[in-house]
Amino acid sequence: MTKRLPLIAGNWKMHKTLGEARALAREICQGVTGDLKVEVVLAPPYTALTTVAAELSGSPVKLAAQDTFWEPQGAFTGAISPLMLKDAGCRYVIVGHSERRQHFGETNQTVNLKLKAALAAGLCPIFCVGETIAERQAGQTLKVVGRQLIEGLAGLTGDTPEPLVVAYEPVWAIGTGLTATPDQTQEVHAFIRVKLPELLGAADDIRILYGGSVTPENSASLMREADIDGALVGGASLKSDSFLKIIAAAG
Ligand code: PEP
Repeated sequence: MTKRLPLIAGNWKMHKTLGEARALAREICQGVTGDLKVEVVLAPPYTALTTVAAELSGSPVKLAAQDTFWEPQGAFTGAISPLMLKDAGCRYVIVGHSERRQHFGETNQTVNLKLKAALAAGLCPIFCVGETIAERQAGQTLKVVGRQLIEGLAGLTGDTPEPLVVAYEPVWAIGTGLTATPDQTQEVHAFIRVKLPELLGAADDIRILYGGSVTPENSASLMREADIDGALVGGASLKSDSFLKIIAAAG
């Protein structure tokens, strides 16, 4: 079996002015030592991408955007293209985050367009899937996640130009302080791990992250599960001390 490098990504959501973003990125870079066996990614808001890119220069920490549009350019007021993100220094882009699905009308079909466009532009997408609490209580978790994978990955194959990352983020655990237990998480991760080769062909290298109220307290036990290859972290990534502890627990 392929040994996958753990990935810890910080999603800053709609937080941080330029000065705050610069300071946080600097503290994280200072805390990430060269011998750490973890890939670290920061996803600041669009406005702070180039500022954070400058801070990350010369460090192993990589830059991500929180979303993208699928067209390369054109009359799409307010949108940002994958080419622009690449130009701003991004290596990764989050696609299909539940907050985009919930507040901005993202569907599996728009997620699919975004994944294809991001990959074509040379970005590595962090493709988010996850069920709501109502779907979990109705016993629909695997069905919902399965449909998100099938429709989101339609037309893609395992030999994507850039590595794809999948993030399992139960919607009920995001920003709520509720964390899926390691068993609940592992069940869905194992399902995704089986589904990916069915949909893409070879998929051994694809990392599957967990996201949903990850903290320094719960990260080590989550990371011990066989199919959890890292974490997408929201709230706990907004302070360097908590984010660095999560990184250390993964290494
Ligand atoms: C997220 O933003 O993807 C997330 C998981 O947030 P939080 O860690 O705050 O639940």
